[in-house]
Amino acid sequence: MLNFTVGPVMASDTVRVIGAEQVPYFRTPEFSEKMLENERLVLSFAHAPKDSRVVFITGSGTASMEATVMNVLTPKDKALVINGGSFGHRFVQLCEIHDIPHDEINPVPGHDITDEDLARFDNKGYTALLVNVDETSTGVLYDIRRISRFCKRNGMLLIVDSISSFLCDPFDMEALGADVMITGSQKALACPPGISLIVLSPRAISRVMDNKVKSMYFDLQDALKNGERGQTPFTPAVGILLQINQRLKEIEAKGGVDAEIKERQMIASDFRRRIKDLPLEIFSHSLSNAVTPLHPVHAKAYDVFTILKDEYQIWICPNGGDLRDRVFRVGHLGALTLQDNETLCHALHDLVRRNLL
Ligand SMILES: *Cc1c(COP(=O)(O)O)cnc(C)c1O
Repeated sequence: MLNFTVGPVMASDTVRVIGAEQVPYFRTPEFSEKMLENERLVLSFAHAPKDSRVVFITGSGTASMEATVMNVLTPKDKALVINGGSFGHRFVQLCEIHDIPHDEINPVPGHDITDEDLARFDNKGYTALLVNVDETSTGVLYDIRRISRFCKRNGMLLIVDSISSFLCDPFDMEALGADVMITGSQKALACPPGISLIVLSPRAISRVMDNKVKSMYFDLQDALKNGERGQTPFTPAVGILLQINQRLKEIEAKGGVDAEIKERQMIASDFRRRIKDLPLEIFSHSLSNAVTPLHPVHAKAYDVFTILKDEYQIWICPNGGDLRDRVFRVGHLGALTLQDNETLCHALHDLVRRNLL
């Protein structure tokens, strides 16, 4: 199997070995130490400001998106959501469910946000902005520095779903003034799904502390308190947290977050170079190193996904909804090599030869 989806993705052999081991009991100093190490490495890779904290949630990325909306925002806020695809739409739904007053900006799918889009919302009393910095559904990487400038000049909280972008594209929480950064275990962390994590700036932490959330499992005050000693309120996905520990330490040993991003960029640009003579158009006008969204000019996108899966044992990522027949995505996350790109492109050329692409 060769997996070019956007998650779950292929894990390194050392991470997979941990998955085969017995899962240890976790209320121990040994596990706490690994958790504190996880927190330290994530804070460093996110360039989080001093006194930031990380909360590890057992649940997929959406669990952390929801926990963030519930704990950091209140009905007294006025939020602005950038909604350019299905993950932006998810933030809108979460604001609706949790009674957070909000408005949307809707960039054209496949396009970045512009200064004009944002300027319409200057000085209108907004208190927070929510964005999925890589809108993975369309593969658009928003210009986070532009968004950061807008938030700074309006004194707004900046809440960033970086789930597919963390470890792929440069992201500096401190320089951007970002208050929340969310990611998940099954994207560039290249571990099994089941853990998501929330990095909270001091400003976000004080919001959590002032808020009384109506939830037991998503009570971030409780999570932060337990986290001080490297623990979680309830039984976490212990095995995945140990795999994350292995992966984070490997990234550190190989030169840290900058080296990891360089590697992603190398894999992504190699793939984009190789497909230049194929009947495929890049759908997004602003690309992340995480994923390349492609529109097959002659074929139905979903059919390409099915044929590659069934006849070549290669998994690319289909799109749902309106884009199902128009767009598929090729992810660059996880333990992929240049050789793997070559294998995929060989299969795509074979489809052309067979009149299937
Ligand atoms: C994958 C992803 C999520 C989380 O989805 P889950 O299925 O809940 O893990 C959220 N936002 C973005 C941008 C993603 O790429």
